[in-house]
Amino acid sequence: MGGGEECSPFIFMSRARDWTHPQTHQVHWFDVHGQATISELELLAEIEDIDLDDLLDANLSSREVLFRLNKYSDLIPEAGLKQDKRRRERGPQEPPVCTICSVEGWQCQGRMTRHHFVPKWIMLELNEYERYAPRSVCTIWVCAGAHRFLHVRGDGASKSIVKYLGDEEKKMAHKLISLFREERPRIYALIAGGDKTSYEWQLIHDWRRGSFDVNGVGHKPFPRWKARTNSL
Ligand SMILES: [Zn+2]
Ligand SMILES: [Zn+2]
Repeated sequence: MGGGEECSPFIFMSRARDWTHPQTHQVHWFDVHGQATISELELLAEIEDIDLDDLLDANLSSREVLFRLNKYSDLIPEAGLKQDKRRRERGPQEPPVCTICSVEGWQCQGRMTRHHFVPKWIMLELNEYERYAPRSVCTIWVCAGAHRFLHVRGDGASKSIVKYLGDEEKKMAHKLISLFREERPRIYALIAGGDKTSYEWQLIHDWRRGSFDVNGVGHKPFPRWKARTNSL
């Protein structure tokens, strides 16, 4: 954002609402009758210090984003101080590199975000989720633009993550999907037979082809008895 030219069309529309960033004092305009834009979601992710992943699949409207931002503003100054403290504790860090654009030669769009290469909702189904939860082992850095590309369905582009992962990440993906199939076979089967344009379908398809199997671990037979007896 920034330039007044970008904001001005909204100012004359009655449905436009503004929100002022409590730290930067920058004013952001929202068209509250529409779907949340990527920059609005980025802003909310930054403010709430959460993953863009958790917002991209939630299908939020601009109005909902604004509501949450205002809720945050009400907590000021306490929340602002907390966030500053967290930043200080983290210390100076190397700026992350976008895993997608660096391979594709694309121009990055938006801030750097963490993408769970095995979606977080799948990881949450695992019995020992906490073991794999640290974001340093189960996420890759992607810019907000490339991140949305991964999550959008039905645009005809391959959502295969294989070529963007290093060996350690591939091993992790292989393990997590093996566990998911073992522990939650019915959900696994639903995805495997489901929407072919989804990130999840592509991930499982790649797993079946052994694309993540760096160590040649292979696949166990499908646990049919579990699929019959397990509830979803
Ligand atoms: Zn990028
Ligand atoms: Zn993601």
